[in-house]
Amino acid sequence: MRKSAEISPWYADGLKFRCIQCGNCCAGAPGYVWVNTREIQAIARQLDMSPEQFERLHTRRIRQRQSLLELDGGDCEFLVYETDGRTHCAIHSARPLQCRTWPFWESNVTNPRAWATSARHCPGINNGELYSLPIIQDALRRNADADLPL
Ligand code: SF4
Repeated sequence: MRKSAEISPWYADGLKFRCIQCGNCCAGAPGYVWVNTREIQAIARQLDMSPEQFERLHTRRIRQRQSLLELDGGDCEFLVYETDGRTHCAIHSARPLQCRTWPFWESNVTNPRAWATSARHCPGINNGELYSLPIIQDALRRNADADLPL
């Protein structure tokens, strides 16, 4: 018999999120932004570079995976600060799955407390559009299929 949490997770009525481009999720504490071969190709194409060149200049190898490089303070290399205090991503249209699916990561939706903890860091959480359960589950599934350690 399936557990009830699998049938109806705590976020069954959806979750709200709207990015306000504060940049918190791409700045500060060091972390990993995982990129696979297909994503490296897409980003390299956007930057008019070869995948090999992009991989050499903008990624680092962590065990069997590649992660985007960070600046010394932990900011993502592709985070751009605007004069009005907002930020944008220099590779937004080719950004990796990990970035596309924020904040619907397994670690964030494990329970309401984890979601609330994420909301303290990301002011977009619990605001804006309501994302339905199928959309959230699709993001979780795609991350799981990609074997992202989120
Ligand atoms: S922390 Fe949240 S609101 Fe701020 S840029 Fe990241 S996703 Fe957007």
